[in-house]
Amino acid sequence: MQYSELSPRIKKVYSQVRYMDEYHWEINGERIIGIHKKSNLKIIIDVADDREHAQKLAESEEKGGIRIIAIPDKNVFFIHNGAFILTYRYAKATLADINDHIVWSGFKVVEQDGGLIQEDFYEYLGGSLVNHLKNNMLLGQDYIFWQFYKCEKCGKYVDVESMERHLKGHGIKHHENSEERYEVFEINFRDGKVYDKYGNKVDKGSFSEEAQEFLKEVLSGVPSE
Ligand SMILES: [Zn+2]
Repeated sequence: MQYSELSPRIKKVYSQVRYMDEYHWEINGERIIGIHKKSNLKIIIDVADDREHAQKLAESEEKGGIRIIAIPDKNVFFIHNGAFILTYRYAKATLADINDHIVWSGFKVVEQDGGLIQEDFYEYLGGSLVNHLKNNMLLGQDYIFWQFYKCEKCGKYVDVESMERHLKGHGIKHHENSEERYEVFEINFRDGKVYDKYGNKVDKGSFSEEAQEFLKEVLSGVPSE
């Protein structure tokens, strides 16, 4: 198939998303597939005639990816049955938002071909994304994501940058770890609180001393209640 043979509407949507090089793009007939390069998460983009058609498409089961259904109508953005239904022109911003919510959550060193490679783990925080869209929250301005390690000795959450110091206190050599998995929390600058990926508040007492210090620093200047 030649590019010129694609329908004008697929070309219109594709021309909106192709600048997002965080994704690898493929076009299969009337469908655009984006693979998030770091996480391999799949984004399926369909094109519908209008709002009703898009809703109908969203109701048909589609497994194994995040769904976007683009329509030519102006100023449309809503979520139906887990799919983002939106105006062509909003596709790029939504892909940027999705990219912001795919967060590194750990690594593992594995053997391969006689050497060692690092495998990385990522998490897609879809619930947070919906919440951030609803509340018009911007990454870096209203919140950031941060990785915390649940210490196997004391059960407290330690921010990744304090891990070496914290584990040393337990007599653990941090550099001996060949695998680490983290909890990704949202540090919210609007209310000065920390939330887990389900939107539950994480209490101050759940954090290690180092992490409490870190949070105090990050949240300094945020008015607390
Ligand atoms: Zn500990």
